[in-house]
Order: sequence, then C-alpha cells, then structure tokens
Amino acid sequence: MQVLKEPAREIPIVRDTDVVVAGGGPGGIMAALAAARAGAKTLLVERYGFLGGMATAGLMTSFNGFRNEHPPNHVQTVRGIPQELIDRLLKAGDACARTAHGHFGDLKPGECPYAVSFDPEVLKQVVLEMLAEAGVDIMLHTLLCDAPADGRNVSAIVVENKSGRQAIKGRMYVDATGDGDLAARAGAAYEKVEKVGQHMMGMSLMYRVAGMPDPQVGQYRLWINGFTTRWGPGVGQLDGSDADDMTEAEIKTRLQVRKHVAGLQEQFPDARLVETAMTIGVRETRRVVGLYSITEEDCLTGRAQPDSIAVSSNPVPGYYGKRRFFDHLGFEIPYRSLVPADLDNLLLAGRCISASQPAFQSARSMAPLMAISQATGTAAAMCIADGCRPADLDVASLQKKLQDDGAVTCIPPEERS
Ligand SMILES: Cc1cc2nc3c(=O)[nH]c(=O)nc-3n(C[C@H](O)[C@H](O)[C@H](O)COP(=O)(O)OP(=O)(O)OC[C@H]3O[C@@H](n4cnc5c(N)ncnc54)[C@H](O)[C@@H]3O)c2cc1C
Repeated sequence: MQVLKEPAREIPIVRDTDVVVAGGGPGGIMAALAAARAGAKTLLVERYGFLGGMATAGLMTSFNGFRNEHPPNHVQTVRGIPQELIDRLLKAGDACARTAHGHFGDLKPGECPYAVSFDPEVLKQVVLEMLAEAGVDIMLHTLLCDAPADGRNVSAIVVENKSGRQAIKGRMYVDATGDGDLAARAGAAYEKVEKVGQHMMGMSLMYRVAGMPDPQVGQYRLWINGFTTRWGPGVGQLDGSDADDMTEAEIKTRLQVRKHVAGLQEQFPDARLVETAMTIGVRETRRVVGLYSITEEDCLTGRAQPDSIAVSSNPVPGYYGKRRFFDHLGFEIPYRSLVPADLDNLLLAGRCISASQPAFQSARSMAPLMAISQATGTAAAMCIADGCRPADLDVASLQKKLQDDGAVTCIPPEERS
C-alpha cells in the first residue's frame, strides 16, 4: 500500500476537563450523566448532530433487557438512570410503550417490563435536557480521530470537526464509541471476531413505516405513535469498523429498502416508507481487553461476581443460531470488565466492554448497557475524586454509590440459591 507521511503540526487544545466521554450513544449518555452528577466536570463528544447512537441514528427504538424476557423475570435487573430516562420519556407524552403491546398506558413510572419501545425524536430531546440539567458540556459534529498515549496514559484525544483538527484533554477518559475507537487508537488490545470463518453479528438498516393498522397485542413489536419500526435489509460478514465494509453495507442495504417495503405492502397495502435510519446499524465490532473478560460460562450460569456493578438478563440473541434465554435472573457484570488492561486513565462504557461474544451479545442490549455505563461514569468521577487509577478504585464504595443512586448492582442475595 502506498503511504503519505502526514506532517507534524501544532493543534489547539480546545477543552481541558475532568472526564472526557467519547461517543454519545446510550452508553455515552449514561456515562456522562453519571460522571457529572458525581461531581466531575464532564465533556461529551459526538460525531453526529444529535445524541442517542443506535437508538436514534440507527432507529433501534426498543430498549431491551430491563429484566429477563421469560421467567424467572420477577426481578427488574436494571434501574437507576436508565429507569429515570424511561420515566422522563413517559412524562414527555406518548414517548414510550411496552414493546410487543404497542400502546401507551401499560407502563407505570418506576417499573419496566423486559422491553420498552420509544419515540426516537423525543429521546433526542429528553437526553439533551437531562445532560443540560447535569451540567454536561457537549461537542457535537466532532469525530474522535486519534488518542495519543504516553505509556499507559491517554495524553489527549484528537478530534476533527468544521473548525479543523483540535485536541481535548481530560483527567479520565471514557470510550463510549461502541467500536472502541478511543481505546484502539490509544493502543489498547482488543478482540474482534474476524470476518473469515467466524461470525460477527450482521448489520441491518432499520426503517420506519406509517399506514399500518393499529397493532393487536404482540403483532408487531416496535409500534409507537402510529409508526412501526422494522428490521430492514441486512448484511453479514462485513466489519463495522472498516470504512470500505461500511460503505458496501450502506449501499447494499439501501438498494434493497424499496423491495423490502413492497413485500410489506402485499400484506398492508397502506404501508408507506417514512424514513430509513441515517446510518446502518452496527451490532458488533471491537471488544477491548479488560482486567477481566466475562466468559460464556459466567453468562450462561449467572455466576456471581465480587465486584459486580450491574446485571444483564437479556437473552443471547444469536447463540449458535438460536435465541438463548437464561434460566436465571441475570448474570453480574464485574467492574474489572470496564477497566482496560493496557491503560490507566481510561474506562469502557457501552458495547465495547471486555466480554466473550455470548456475554457481549446479552449485555449489548440497551437496558443493561445503560446500567453498565452508569457505573463507568460514576467510576470515572470517583477515580478523579480519590486520585487513583481505575484498577485501584475501591469497588465497595462504587457499589454503594451506585445503589444510593438507585441502580441494581447485583442479583439480590435472597434470590440466589
Ligand atoms: C440492527 C440492530 C438491532 C438492535 N436491536 C436491539 C434491540 O432490539 N434492543 C436493544 O436494546 N438493543 C438493540 N441493539 C443493540 C444496541 O442498539 C447497541 O448495542 C447499543 O446502541 C450500543 O450502545 P453504545 O452506546 O455502546 O454504542 P452506539 O449506540 O453505537 O453509540 C455510539 C456513539 O458514539 C458515536 N461515535 C462512534 N465513533 C465515534 C468517534 N470516532 N467519534 C465521535 N463519536 C463517535 C456514534 O455516532 C454514536 O452516537 C441493536 C443494534 C442494532 C445495530
């Protein structure tokens, strides 16, 4: 491959803050809220002009995994800020509903079923309001493109936006890019299911249609305010962290959308396409290597973890080709899986935490993922307050703080056999 030597240059440091969160999806939003509420001066950097990641840009309009989908499901395993977000959406009007039932009114504040569908436009607004209330500084239209490190410490993140190339410094960094861009650029080890021979979860282009009849219970899952979100055309064997693969995936799936909708119209003649997601949905890319990687056995057996900070009860959607439900309430997420093995001032939020593929497939659902990310943001702020590395944080204090903030950090002891 031919190369171009990029000349060294000086760039302005446009922010110097406590916690820098890269990526404004469900993970980044929760991490930024938690860090700011815990007292850290926090900046959230996002490449698009709005927040929400896959939940808005990808039109993935159902928060799954507040509890097990099937019995045993009597314990709600995600609360804290994610529950608060649902309550805010409820308060904002007809902004969320019980997924698979498709009508507003089934949800009560303070309690969630397995999944909650929502209006992505209201979500965009509500998260901005919550972040403003918490005092989070936000930079939109800003792409993280590098993260120089000095040994085990990220020195700054380098971003590109309409103002040019800029640097941002923090005392603690959170990678919430989904793809682990920050950690990878800083030199942290990561795992990725390779394209050949193994299966990275496929990508899908979601779209919304109007003109469908009001759904009967369970008829179609993502119906809200007259719109139905549909799983659109998909592609497999392509890598969402590779620019050429992303281009191929977007083009292939976009060219199939009209045919997809035409198929739907055979059953529902009034159905019409309202919008496609502004980006193809990427399910899986890098998983950063942490101090502990959650194993397949951990997740299938519901193993308890001494440093548990959240619980994932969501089924594993693609377990050797089938949806694998748990026969337990959920598995515990250890704090160590949020701490990269190679870096001392970075924490992981969202779907790039350290996990085997089955554990990842469960915890990547947005309810557990938001709970995990609340822990990440809280931990980042506590590391700054305590002047310690993430690896040295007093986990008992973190667990207590999360519980005080309404989060579920573990399976209740009385529920363990
Ligand atoms: C097709 C599909 C179907 C799914 N179905 C469901 C479902 O039914 N229910 C469910 O709960 N979950 C579902 N998921 C999973 C869920 O949506 C994701 O796992 C979750 O959104 C991941 O959250 P995140 O914050 O880690 O990453 P993302 O949601 O991807 O957010 C990452 C954010 O970081 C930004 N970003 C990325 N790179 C950079 C960069 N270099 N610089 C600046 N910003 C950057 C992105 O723009 C984005 O806003 C689905 C996902 C897909 C793709």
